[in-house]
Amino acid sequence: MLYSKLAKLYHELSSTPKRLEKIDILSKFLELLSERDSNILYLLEGNIYPDYDERKIGISNQLAIKALSKSTGTPSKKVQELWKKMGDLGEVAEKITQTKKQTTLASQTLTTKKVIENLRKLPELVGKGTIDKKISLITELLTSATPQEALYLTRTLIGDLRIGVQESTIKYAMLKAFFKDNKEYEETLQRAIDRTNDLEEVFKIAQKGKIKELEKLKLRVGKPIKAMLAQKAESIEQGFKSLGTPLAVEYKYDGFRLLIHKDKDKVILFTRRLENVTNQFPEVAEYVKEYIKGESFILDSEAVGYDKKTKKYTDFQAISQRIRRKYNIDKLRSSLPVEVNVFDILYYNGKSQLDEPFEKRTELIRKILTPKPYKIIASKMIITSDKKEVEKFYKAALKENQEGVMLKNLKAEYKPGRRVGHMLKIKPDQRDFDLVITGAEWGTGKRKGWLSSFILSCKKNSEYLEIGKTSTGLKEKKESGLSYEQLTELLKPLIEKEEGRIVRIKPKIIVAVTYQEIQKSPNYKSGLALRFPRFVALREDKPLKEITTLGEIEEEFDNQKKENYAYG
Ligand code: AMP
Repeated sequence: MLYSKLAKLYHELSSTPKRLEKIDILSKFLELLSERDSNILYLLEGNIYPDYDERKIGISNQLAIKALSKSTGTPSKKVQELWKKMGDLGEVAEKITQTKKQTTLASQTLTTKKVIENLRKLPELVGKGTIDKKISLITELLTSATPQEALYLTRTLIGDLRIGVQESTIKYAMLKAFFKDNKEYEETLQRAIDRTNDLEEVFKIAQKGKIKELEKLKLRVGKPIKAMLAQKAESIEQGFKSLGTPLAVEYKYDGFRLLIHKDKDKVILFTRRLENVTNQFPEVAEYVKEYIKGESFILDSEAVGYDKKTKKYTDFQAISQRIRRKYNIDKLRSSLPVEVNVFDILYYNGKSQLDEPFEKRTELIRKILTPKPYKIIASKMIITSDKKEVEKFYKAALKENQEGVMLKNLKAEYKPGRRVGHMLKIKPDQRDFDLVITGAEWGTGKRKGWLSSFILSCKKNSEYLEIGKTSTGLKEKKESGLSYEQLTELLKPLIEKEEGRIVRIKPKIIVAVTYQEIQKSPNYKSGLALRFPRFVALREDKPLKEITTLGEIEEEFDNQKKENYAYG
């Protein structure tokens, strides 16, 4: 297919903010899409592979600028200036492509096949000369691009497509295109997407209208699916009311999520963002092989750090560096040990467990796992109908430095990728939020060269709304924790616009932030402001989709008002 056709679709989709119109436009496009071009399904979400695949395009703004400069003959500095003025590199690409000297000899008509081919080569490149090779692959595409193609190609490259299409938009469009919008089939489609985590695969079957074939799609070891997420309970009482009794109560561990896949001798570990971290945690693979029986399985778990000497559990921050570090693994393994707490099982010896009730799944875990404290255990759990017992258990969890407890409905299934009402978290007054950095200021004096005064934003639908500003909690020295230097390094490639010392930053870097109070504020678009926000940790394990929402913060604000009223 011609890439111009896809660019036209992107344009139509971004021209309407209405969800139903987007679904309509997309369904008409999908109806006519041939199986040959099915990998366009990935491009619709700005990807080149299925969601479970780690290979992403990963091009920084600066690299895209270099390629744009080369392909259009515009000096880099000029591209940079235009970008600062316009704030959208895609629009810059459109503009400079319009005015570029016609180098028609070198250009060819772009096809989606060629675009995917070149984009897929990008993550494969490593070692010497990588940057030049990347630039030349991108330039090859850009020189052939029309202004509209250059706009969307550039946005795709930097991972910011801005057409307002999510997985659910694609699901509804498929439902409309291939199943006459019959709502009875929606769940089947959703399940097919959940289990494969691969839109192209689902599209190929849906296109033929084969609902029975969709039902047969299975989970696969080695292809991670999106983890199930919890909602919040206001109190134990409310938890009892919404889940019914008896219910399961587990420690809510303060670590990071590990999805464990095992097939015969091979163990693969994924984070909640579905990044492969097998190499970072060799000991976990050993524990899994040694202490869990079974040919093949998929487990859901939380890895928690502990102090080697005191055996006390540490918080997430203390072990977070283990997720990223690729070197000195043996040293880290010994200085920052983790214990794996298994809390769910999704697949066992060839059979999906997703539809089994939680009580069966948790029973299976206990049957196949030989607990080895400080290595691997089934997460601590009680089954009860007694609120007092839950209170006691909750206190014990907090005493052991964990975040709180999870209440779980014993009869419920495992729903991938959804924030479900049958798993509820209870934490002490939520005094920390996961926010994304959307701006900063260049520092002065001893902070010259570093970014500071970071602007923090929460999420409302697909918008990011400012809610606070801080540098507190950051260290001057790199070794002593999250530092100015480290954050500056992470944020610099994401700078979108600069005006004097003020910079606007593409939302990507997520941080856990504590605060003293939430206040109403006309200064921020969110309408609220955090008083005394303070950095606690980088949340490299969390996807952007899952940061704290404005709704959650408003809820905390209301709770706070109630508390002030009661005690004030
Ligand atoms: P939150 O990040 O506050 O939305 O809480 C959900 C996270 O709690 C999950 O993604 C897990 O990483 C973590 N977690 C810790 N202990 C448990 C548990 N026993 N059951 C389920 N999730 C848990």
